[in-house]
Amino acid sequence: MLECETVKKGTPCPFMTPKGCSFNGGSCRVIVEQCEGCANIIELPTGRYCRKCPDPSAKWRFGRCNMATHIKNNNNKGSRHINPLKAAKRKTKGR
Ligand code: SF4
Repeated sequence: MLECETVKKGTPCPFMTPKGCSFNGGSCRVIVEQCEGCANIIELPTGRYCRKCPDPSAKWRFGRCNMATHIKNNNNKGSRHINPLKAAKRKTKGR
């Protein structure tokens, strides 16, 4: 795997090619507000990025990021957040 030559210089990355970064836009995107508190945030001179994902906003677009370390997936008893897509699926499954 080639190493990044843009914002995460020196980090092995599957998007790096001999012609440069092949990710949409040519480099990783900075973290979004919902990422605050996640252990996957890396602070670089170029900004704050996610070590797992090149575009954090995409991870939150349809709900919770599945790699977030600051949000528990289970035992969210107090949480009133319901993913409408999942709720709809549960209803139609009928199992
Ligand atoms: S793992 Fe998810 S929540 Fe954590 S920094 Fe990356 S995109 Fe943000």
